[in-house]
Amino acid sequence: MRSRVGPDFPIICRLSGDEYVDGGLRIKETKQIAKILEKEGANALHVSACNAASGYLNHPPYYVEEGVFVHLARAIKSEVGIPVIAVGRIRNPVMADQIIRDGKADLVSMGRALIADPHMPKKAKEGRFEEIIPCISCNRCIQTLRKGVVRCAVNPETGNEGQFGLLETDRPKKVWIVGGGPGGLKAAEIAAQRGHQVTVFEKAHRLGGRMRLAAVPPKKEVLNDFNDYLERRVKGLGITLELGRELTVDMLRPVKPDVVIVATGALPYFPDWKGVEESGAISVDDALSRRAEDIGRRVLVVGGGGVGAETADYLSEMGKEVTLVEMLEEIASDLVGHLKHYLSQRLKQKGVTILTSSKVKELGKGYAVVEDAAAVRRIDGFDAMVLAVGSVSDDRIAKILEGKVPELYVIGDASQPREALEAVYEGEEVAMKI
Ligand SMILES: Cc1cc2nc3c(=O)[nH]c(=O)nc-3n(C[C@H](O)[C@H](O)[C@H](O)COP(=O)(O)OP(=O)(O)OC[C@H]3O[C@@H](n4cnc5c(N)ncnc54)[C@H](O)[C@@H]3O)c2cc1C
Repeated sequence: MRSRVGPDFPIICRLSGDEYVDGGLRIKETKQIAKILEKEGANALHVSACNAASGYLNHPPYYVEEGVFVHLARAIKSEVGIPVIAVGRIRNPVMADQIIRDGKADLVSMGRALIADPHMPKKAKEGRFEEIIPCISCNRCIQTLRKGVVRCAVNPETGNEGQFGLLETDRPKKVWIVGGGPGGLKAAEIAAQRGHQVTVFEKAHRLGGRMRLAAVPPKKEVLNDFNDYLERRVKGLGITLELGRELTVDMLRPVKPDVVIVATGALPYFPDWKGVEESGAISVDDALSRRAEDIGRRVLVVGGGGVGAETADYLSEMGKEVTLVEMLEEIASDLVGHLKHYLSQRLKQKGVTILTSSKVKELGKGYAVVEDAAAVRRIDGFDAMVLAVGSVSDDRIAKILEGKVPELYVIGDASQPREALEAVYEGEEVAMKI
């Protein structure tokens, strides 16, 4: 390569410090490779990790500590004189700066953090740290990229760069937003930046919506970085925030808003199986907001999608004896592969009983009737049951407002229960349209 590109062209070699696979490369070998590369004329070494067999870790998700591969860069740095680049869940410039100050690496490389906010270096340089859109390491970018176009849960403009521009409106409108979850807050932020007069009604006493609940299971507190970011944004833009206030039709008359954006989210789904009511089963939302002592010791979680599996993780962390029932062949099948890997591992390590290919037919006080390939049987002895079988849009206020305001939009989970990515995207999209 050197002979082809000449002496003044930088050659940077990226290598796996540790492949984290039995029989794979370990740091001992990589150190030798690094020395050879330096001798042969490499200008810098970029130290990552993993190979195809340890792909679950190659884009470390929120289950893995920040800066997980930095020690590998440091180990290589002690062997060579050329600059060494560190990478791997380095989410913010303060941490990046510290890695360099500590002498662990000469440069820092960031991927997902820049997918979340490509303006991060500029904002950091100008000291505008509070304005940086924080990557939450959820890996929706990796998932969407594999399907063709990169998207980001916290930045609707990623992959849609040509679509959004912040055009100031020439017709400022009175915009009411019902619901202060990620969808409503993104709509509020963009509408206010465009010059509209925005009011957000949130029936809870805190902003963030269901994304605050999403941040409760173990290792997911990082989601609150995004919730806090959105909260800071709307508070800094002069938006009127009506917390603890539910919107009612009577409130429309004196103010006459031009636009109402309904972002009321979704509610837990309660199936009509026999015995659901008598069983006293609670929702995931309820389970994640209650104190440990308010839930019994032996808990059955019905539904092993991502939300149910995370709730099982949360409950077992609280010392509960948890059984998780899922009708599909595997749990957490709706999650990005990296998350599924770690979550499944956590449940296994904590001894959660997992029943897959098992369909709940009936619930009762302390028991469930479950059908699998072999038989229909009763499992019992539970002190509490948690239903994690999906959500339904809360479109009650949308239905009431139909025909009563000049412009009405329904976005996010209120339109169809999905995830933050969709809610935030639709929030920005509608705010650009009005
Ligand atoms: C346990 C759990 C884990 C999850 N994990 C993830 C995850 O890891 N990643 C992810 O992307 N998504 C996750 N989700 C989904 C995510 O939380 C939602 O998709 C997202 O919050 C939807 O945003 P939204 O703005 O549409 O609605 P919401 O976040 O639900 O916000 C709606 C808001 O409207 C308010 N409201 C309702 N009615 C009224 C009214 N009449 N007046 C005033 N206010 C009202 C509510 O109080 C609420 O604050 C999870 C959800 C749950 C329950």
